[in-house]
Amino acid sequence: MSCTLRVRWTLTANRFPRPWRTCSRCGVQRAFACSGKFRLNANGRRLDAWLVYKCVICDDTWNHTLFERRNTRDLHPELLSALEANDPALVGRFAFDVASLRRVAHRIEEFAGSVAHKEMLLDRPDTPERLEIGLSMAIPIAIRLDRLLAAELGLSRARIGAMMEAGHIITTAALNRPARDGCRVEIDLSVEEADVILREAGG
Ligand SMILES: [Zn+2]
Repeated sequence: MSCTLRVRWTLTANRFPRPWRTCSRCGVQRAFACSGKFRLNANGRRLDAWLVYKCVICDDTWNHTLFERRNTRDLHPELLSALEANDPALVGRFAFDVASLRRVAHRIEEFAGSVAHKEMLLDRPDTPERLEIGLSMAIPIAIRLDRLLAAELGLSRARIGAMMEAGHIITTAALNRPARDGCRVEIDLSVEEADVILREAGG
């Protein structure tokens, strides 16, 4: 019987990233918050689409271009109806597209995600020797792997780093990079904090 306890953490983002741009009304750099709404403009068969942002101070609008003069026949009907309905899932897909926001903003303010759900996979071994955490996230989240582990396991980042150096933590991704979907973290449960780790990890 395997002595590895497997858990899965499902992460969600709690806030949309905020691009910083010069607000034409404020006259200085401001954070712009996603309004959750699209703006569409049809010209014959050609369609423009924007995601609407608002200056957090004065509410002035900035439209983030999603596409311009796209022939409506080339657009999937489901995409068109999702745009017209301000579908939250589609809003999220564009609002979390940090790479595309980066091209039009001076900087992007990203917010840490949080673990929404922890579940045990398979049966719990009587005396688990290793813990394997699999990360699952539908959209990229801007939290470093070591920060995530420290926050969720109730340990300091220094301790996480030390455990990594001692070979008690093995990861498929760098600790100082954002956590990614499909990333795995294996923790050797011979460490003194094993009970805390097991409890906090959802085991
Ligand atoms: Zn403003």
